[in-house]
Amino acid sequence: RSLLARIDKLEESIHAYVTVDPDSALEMAAEADRMIAAGKAGPLTGIPIAVKDNMCIKGRKTSCGSRILGNFKPPYDATVVRRLKDAGMVILGSANMDEFAMGSSTETSYWGPTRNPWNTEMIPGGSSGGSAAAVAAKEAVVSLGSDTGGSIRLPAAFCGVTGIKPTYGAVSRFGLVAYASSLDQIGPIARDVKDIALLLNLLCGHDPMDSTSVPREYPDFTSFLEKPVKGMTLGLPTEFFSKLDNEDVSRAVADARKTFEDLGIKFVDLSLPHLDYGIAAYYIIAPSEASSNLARYDGVKYGHRAEEYSGIIDMYCNTRAEGFGPEVKRRIMLGTYALSSGYYDAYYVKAAKVRTLITNDFKKAFESCDAIFCPTAPSPAFRIGEKIDDPMQMYLTDVFTIPVNMAGLPGMAIPAGFSRDGLPIGLQLIAPHFKEEVLVQLSAAFQ
Ligand code: GLN
Repeated sequence: RSLLARIDKLEESIHAYVTVDPDSALEMAAEADRMIAAGKAGPLTGIPIAVKDNMCIKGRKTSCGSRILGNFKPPYDATVVRRLKDAGMVILGSANMDEFAMGSSTETSYWGPTRNPWNTEMIPGGSSGGSAAAVAAKEAVVSLGSDTGGSIRLPAAFCGVTGIKPTYGAVSRFGLVAYASSLDQIGPIARDVKDIALLLNLLCGHDPMDSTSVPREYPDFTSFLEKPVKGMTLGLPTEFFSKLDNEDVSRAVADARKTFEDLGIKFVDLSLPHLDYGIAAYYIIAPSEASSNLARYDGVKYGHRAEEYSGIIDMYCNTRAEGFGPEVKRRIMLGTYALSSGYYDAYYVKAAKVRTLITNDFKKAFESCDAIFCPTAPSPAFRIGEKIDDPMQMYLTDVFTIPVNMAGLPGMAIPAGFSRDGLPIGLQLIAPHFKEEVLVQLSAAFQ
């Protein structure tokens, strides 16, 4: 109830949510009470959570930030949502996001932008901007985001909270509205690493409903919260640091390095030579997969349908013209072009090869370190409206996060101080595949 009251008070200025469902949240809270009374409570029972608007919640509006899904109410729960419900968590509502998770600022949402709680003239980062802002503004205790090229880590960094993109295949994508299926991954956002560890325990695990879900055992992530870090090694990718020209970020990262050194951690320089091609390859692969995934929005199966049309082709055209925003249309056109006959080998196949080179760079890097240390973003949060008309500038925001998705690795953003203007700055730690526990261990020591 206190969170619902806070949401009521703050939403006008923050707009972290697309939908808040007080009745359903209070019902879930009552169910949590019953679980507690019956002695069936777990560590997350009764904890209120915000869920990004691209994860299906049975019977509750799931719009993916888009007009085309409009009032779509899924007939089933995403696997992650089922896990939240089974644990007795209380879903407050659906968090705002860039339309179809395409963006870095939450400005492409059909429902209007989310504002950064630290300074409401600034963007919160994206695409999971609502999820990060809700946690930062204390409009939720924790939240779920999804990350295709940085969408959990970037808003976590810009809002001064902690967020992790798990290894590709660790968390089920069943019931997540698909953007770029070979890159999408769901993960938690929280105010500290302990909450992240508890949520990883709940979310990670095999799901037969997702063919890319990996069958394996996961450790109890909370057992790494107090584990000593002395003697561990962090790698400094020279290519990341040579790109850094923001004084505030450079200083925060240098301070963080000092903190880690005081904890007995060694630093080694290393090279990721194909990093420069990350964004270019991503903007072939992600739009290609998106153009295929978004073909299903035809005005028949889900959500919005144009009112005026003559014949079925016209109905498709009008529905998609009305239902998708400009950034989504740009991606569909880019992707359709890159996949078209004659261009497929020149663009898509080439980008897939670059992806392998990036993955191999990381594999080699991890021979000399336990995790990689770098900033999450090249600058702190920027102003609302500053980059929305310049897609290239917007795309460059993800320069440090995209390579992690390309390689399928786990990456975590943790708060590392503030800029001189009082905006949060995030550090990023990257671990080898299925080594989320190393990120938990290092971040817990750092915090
Ligand atoms: N900003 C990137 C994009 O627009 C990444 C978004 C994401 O991770 N969902 O594609």
